[in-house]
This record gives sequence, structure tokens and C-alpha cells, in this order.
Amino acid sequence: MKLVKTVAELQAIVKETKKAGKSIGLVPTMGALHEGHASLIKAAHAENDFTIVSDFVNPTQFGPTEDLDAYPRTLEHDCELAEKMGADVLFVPSPKEMYPSRDMTWVEVTGDITKVLCGRTRPIHFRGVATVVSKLFNLTQPDKAYFGQKDAQQAQVLKRMVKDLFFPLEIRVMPIIRETDGLAKSSRNVYLNATERKAAVILSKALTKAKAAFAAGERDSAKLTAMVAEMIRTEPLSDIDYVEIYQLPELAPAEATITTDHLLAVAVKFGTTRLIDNVVLEV
Ligand code: AMP
Repeated sequence: MKLVKTVAELQAIVKETKKAGKSIGLVPTMGALHEGHASLIKAAHAENDFTIVSDFVNPTQFGPTEDLDAYPRTLEHDCELAEKMGADVLFVPSPKEMYPSRDMTWVEVTGDITKVLCGRTRPIHFRGVATVVSKLFNLTQPDKAYFGQKDAQQAQVLKRMVKDLFFPLEIRVMPIIRETDGLAKSSRNVYLNATERKAAVILSKALTKAKAAFAAGERDSAKLTAMVAEMIRTEPLSDIDYVEIYQLPELAPAEATITTDHLLAVAVKFGTTRLIDNVVLEV
């Protein structure tokens, strides 16, 4: 596996790879790689001739009071894991390499899809994500790009962007990888102290309960969200940002009585750490 730090070197590698007629899989990450990321890299490796993993803590998707500086950085470990999972290139650019000038071009997906859920408390987040992912798409020209269902809203926003901007690639969304007790793997889990870590299990428990109720025939969207919120509130360390339900794929308001696929998503703080999780309610 090659560690690539500059745009110029990456472009040269992509040009050679395309010339050789190889398909390219891209896995965008912010590093601090865990088994969730590993599953995406493994899938990219299995489905493409050449796999590029980007490892870049993207400053434009963090708000001014968010954890950009504290975000975990584990480059040596990332190299080992990416290589083991079959990556051919690990692209680790500096912020200056990705954003050479202060005047810049933004890519912004508008509408409910970026305003609801995380968009409400993180108003610039999806603009930063869409912009950096567009840059990565242009640099790596992937046939397929891999994202996790863990960030369900992000996946829908990027699908919309690909459709609107005619990016010639397929977005592949892979299942959420969890710890054995159910907590969704996240680079931010390292922020949790031992008691918060224990408490955080309530998220997957509550979502699993709602999914089971749905499977048993409950179709009242308000009842399903209330069930999840109520269960999360039994955990005194939890501080709910949202427990909401929206229609897939565009995140339009939920139907009162569910007849199409919906996303039930939560964002909850434990101490200063904000965690997200979700389930899809498939009809
Ligand atoms: P991040 O480094 O947190 O920006 O995540 C990079 C990619 O990995 C995103 O597409 C995430 O959705 C995905 N990802 C993060 N955590 C998980 C997980 N637990 N399971 C599956 N995919 C994940």
C-alpha cells in the first residue's frame, strides 16, 4: 500500500490506474479507523481492482464549537488497518493540500435532506461533507464509493449530490458495524468515560425495540419515536438532541401511519460526546 500525501501524486496514480483499465473503489474517512471503516475497505477491495482510502479530518464540516482539534488521529494504526483490508492507496492530505486558497468553491445540497436531523444543530456540516467528497470524487474518479449506514443522512445527501451533479459513480452504503453490546462503532466512542460508555448502549437497545415493534405491526410513527425517546430517557446520563423519523430516501416528513420505508434516527449526548445511531423501518 502506498501512502500518498499530495493531490499531484494521487492524480498521477489515478491516471495510470485508469489507463490500465482498472476499476477504482473509494472509501472516504476521517481516520481513527475501526471495524466500521474496515468493512467499507474490505467491500471496496472485493468489488474493485484498485482501492483508495482517504484519511482526512475535514475542517469544513466542523462547526466553530465542535471537536476538530480534539478529533482522534491515529495514522500509524490507520496505515496498518487499511493495508490489511486491501487498500492500494491511503491518501492523507494536509488541509492546505485540499483547500489551497481561502476563497473557494462550495458544493451544497439544499432542501429538507440537509436541514433535518443533524442539519438542524450542524448547519454547515453537510456543505463541508458535500464539498470535500466532491473534491475526492474528482481526484480519484471512482467507479464505486463506499459509505456507512451509520451516517444515514450523509449517505442520502451524497446520493442526492451524485444524482444532481451527474457524478459517474455508484454510492454503496454498507451496514452499521457494532460493538458486541450493540453500540455502533465510532471514532468518537474513545471520548466516552467508562460510565458513559455503559450508558450509551441504550441507543441501540431503544432502536432495536422500535424495530421489533415495527416488525410486530406497529405503524404509528409518533408512537415509535416516543417509544425510543422514553427508553433513552431511562438512562440518566443521556441528553437527547433528537429522536426523529423521516421518509426515505429524501427525508421528507414521516407519514403518520407508515406505508413506505422510513429512517428512525437518534442523536444523543453522553457528557460532552454526541453519538448518532439509526434503524431503517422497511415495509
Ligand atoms: P468517519 O471517519 O467517521 O467520517 O466515517 C467514514 C465512513 O465510515 C463513513 O461513511 C461512515 O458512515 C462509515 N462508518 C463509520 N462508522 C461506521 C460503522 N460503525 N459501521 C459502518 N460504517 C461506519
